[in-house]
Amino acid sequence: MVNYMKRSSVDRSKLSPMMKEYVELKDNYEDCIVFYRLGDFYEMFFDDAITASRELELTLTGKSAGLKEKVPMCGIPHHAYSSYIDTLIEKGYKVAIAEQLEDPKKVKGTVKRDVIQVITRGTRLDNNLDSKNNNYIANIYDFSYCKGISYTDISTGEFFCELLEKDNEDIIRNIIKHGFRELIVNDTIDRELINTLRVNYGILITITKNIYEQDDYQYIYQDIEDIRLKTTIKHLLHYILDTKKGDLHHLKKCELVKKTNTLIFDNNTKKNLELIETIRSRDRQYSLLWLLDKNKTAMGSRYLKLQIENPITDKNELERRYHFVEKISTEFIIRDELRTTLDEVYDLERLSGRISYGNLNARDMLQLKRSLNALPKIKKLLTSLDYDKEIETLDEVASLLEKTIKEEPPLSLKEGSIIKDGYNSELDELRKLSSGSKDFILNIEKDEKERTGIKTLKVGFNKIFGYYIEVSKGQKHLVKDEFGYERRQTLANCERYITKELKEKENIILGAEEKIVNLEYKLFMDIREIVKRYISKIQKVAKIISEVDMLQSFSIVSDENKFVKPNLVNTKELNLIECRHPVVEKVMKDKYVSNDISMDQNTNILLITGPNMAGKSTYMRQCAVTIIMAQIGCFVPCKSATMPIFDKIFTRIGASDDLVSGESTFMVEMKEANYAISEATENSLILFDELGRGTATYDGMSLAQAILEYIHDKIKAKTMFSTHYHELTILEKDLKHLKNIHVSAQEKDGKVTFLHKVKIGAIDKSYGINVASLARLPKDLIKRSEEILNIYENHNKKQETFTQTSLFEMTEEEVEKKIEQNEFEEAIRGIKPLEMSPMEALNFLYELQKKYDI
Ligand code: ADP
Ligand code: MG
Repeated sequence: MVNYMKRSSVDRSKLSPMMKEYVELKDNYEDCIVFYRLGDFYEMFFDDAITASRELELTLTGKSAGLKEKVPMCGIPHHAYSSYIDTLIEKGYKVAIAEQLEDPKKVKGTVKRDVIQVITRGTRLDNNLDSKNNNYIANIYDFSYCKGISYTDISTGEFFCELLEKDNEDIIRNIIKHGFRELIVNDTIDRELINTLRVNYGILITITKNIYEQDDYQYIYQDIEDIRLKTTIKHLLHYILDTKKGDLHHLKKCELVKKTNTLIFDNNTKKNLELIETIRSRDRQYSLLWLLDKNKTAMGSRYLKLQIENPITDKNELERRYHFVEKISTEFIIRDELRTTLDEVYDLERLSGRISYGNLNARDMLQLKRSLNALPKIKKLLTSLDYDKEIETLDEVASLLEKTIKEEPPLSLKEGSIIKDGYNSELDELRKLSSGSKDFILNIEKDEKERTGIKTLKVGFNKIFGYYIEVSKGQKHLVKDEFGYERRQTLANCERYITKELKEKENIILGAEEKIVNLEYKLFMDIREIVKRYISKIQKVAKIISEVDMLQSFSIVSDENKFVKPNLVNTKELNLIECRHPVVEKVMKDKYVSNDISMDQNTNILLITGPNMAGKSTYMRQCAVTIIMAQIGCFVPCKSATMPIFDKIFTRIGASDDLVSGESTFMVEMKEANYAISEATENSLILFDELGRGTATYDGMSLAQAILEYIHDKIKAKTMFSTHYHELTILEKDLKHLKNIHVSAQEKDGKVTFLHKVKIGAIDKSYGINVASLARLPKDLIKRSEEILNIYENHNKKQETFTQTSLFEMTEEEVEKKIEQNEFEEAIRGIKPLEMSPMEALNFLYELQKKYDI
């Protein structure tokens, strides 16, 4: 029976020395599960043991620790710890690793232990990190009137910061968009905000006010002028240095995120457009990222993802990228060579992180070597492609690694076999000694056989007895005293002996081997120190490779899918000829119907009507996706494309309830609409897909109309607005920058076929019932709905103005009356008594009385 004794309630004076040390250490790591190294195991005690045994399905046992009852304990073998840590971290725990700081063989009493690092979701540096995604850790620092936020990927060293001066919603929007999974906040921050992030979005949050105060990492923030941002960065730095505890000098200078340089959109847009993953299955497959990712390196894939999430607005830079994509496409033989060479480049960014932090093994070093070896070739290829950035090839590091690291080193650094012969003379000597003696031992077998005449005699080795001579039972009687054999072990079918000579050689071998292992370890560390000096250079190369890889990927994808180079203009003309949705097209192949998206200088709004399933949403999405592709430097899925550079994209597509925050579809719709119209500029793109359908017909229609008018008159952003309120199409008459278009369908014998072709003008039929019949609803039901539709259509013809309550629930007479009442109210509302002469007022009253027969 296991007890659930708590650490907080034990009498510490009675604890054994080891357990006393444990509880004192654990006091400083209250919010972590402490992995406490005992020999070959990491053990957990008290509450940690209880939690870990539950989460990791380990057996809970007990340890005697001086108390009456045993202390709850569970453990895992030290070599298998990484998968256990993964599980705990994914579940949102923090793990503190407490190692033995002294060699247990060399100290008396308890070995000194301390936490060497804390591992959390955002501070992982291990090999199990997903190579295609960045792993950011972020912080928010509250200055009450505004908030600073900074974030870094410790595995790659990237570091960013910005100030957020708006409300909590804006902050949540930012946090969610970046996909941060761990957040540090200072202690003055709004509790409600923390709760929302923690509970609704599952973000791991640590509250601390500590600020980094040394100088070692000053370079990270020295170029940032704003004192608030400096504080923000130092707040995050304190946390990561405190958890990682190792050298993190691969962290780069912090970059200030300049919103003016990026095409801005929020997480909803990212989701709606399926940029990174699909809405339904949350899968990378069939997302835009999936389509465009023909990268050869993990760095390229991550860079592409970063670009898709943050497209740019710098025309020169975009044209520079187009130029290079075009060049690579024409030089397709060089492109092939480049791709093959990029295959040899490993994840230099993450390798830099491990070099700096120190958890890099010989195989990582080999990966670095292979990557560096590929650089001269890449450099040559880039020169022949007129690429405008210079790659530094780092030949001296490459040749150092070539000289030193063996081709197939073991994973562990404590087994030797890492360093090549010929690099270090002491090592060579030791190896000679060791292998010479090994040969010598093999010779002993031969010599002894001859000397003793025992044919089956063998020389063997085991860990307990070292080298021995083995004689089978049957031949045992042949062993004579004068041989000088000392018996060591008797087994069922043989006898094992040692000799003086054998033991002497053994000492030399084992002594040499231990020395070799230690020396190799030291040499490896020295090499790592040398390589460490090149980290910033390696990072520079990595950045260039990421970009080149992404651009070659654009070239491949553009060729495969017939994308064209966009023509960026300074006017407000958007003209995408024969535009396609690249992902839907990829899936449907030739069946996809291309469409023009044309908004000249005088057209800002396209009002799109058409039956359900006609392709309205797809048409709108493809516009936004095309623009995003253009603004990351990729070619676009069109026959030709002329477009201005957009500053922001807003979307309201699909009726996905925000289940997380528990808000209704309509509320979410209105919030998103508000976000769009309050933030959009005339250089933005707005996509509103059937806005207003979450509420009663006339509410929805009125709101839709008001929003259209607002955008038309005040914002002037390029807008695509799909609707099934056909009544709205009359707006074209009054709003001169609005154009009606529709997606056509063909009806024959009551059956519709969708042509997916977009045409000028409005459509007056919604084909809803036809679509329902396609979905095989019962025939009687379809027939009945047609009858009902007829009744409604007759009603609608009789009334001109929109009424508030649902007309459909009233009798015909009631409807007439309601319409009359509305007209009456309208008439009253329309007059301005203060501006009327008494005579006019009298006349008005008289007319009213007459008209309504009162
Ligand atoms: P709507 O928004 O008008 O209801 P969608 O845009 O959701 O229609 O499209 C419905 C389906 O029609 C899509 O799932 C897609 O398979 C198909 N589709 C849409 N646009 C096209 C197109 N241009 N060519 C071919 N098929 C299309
Ligand atoms: Mg739709």
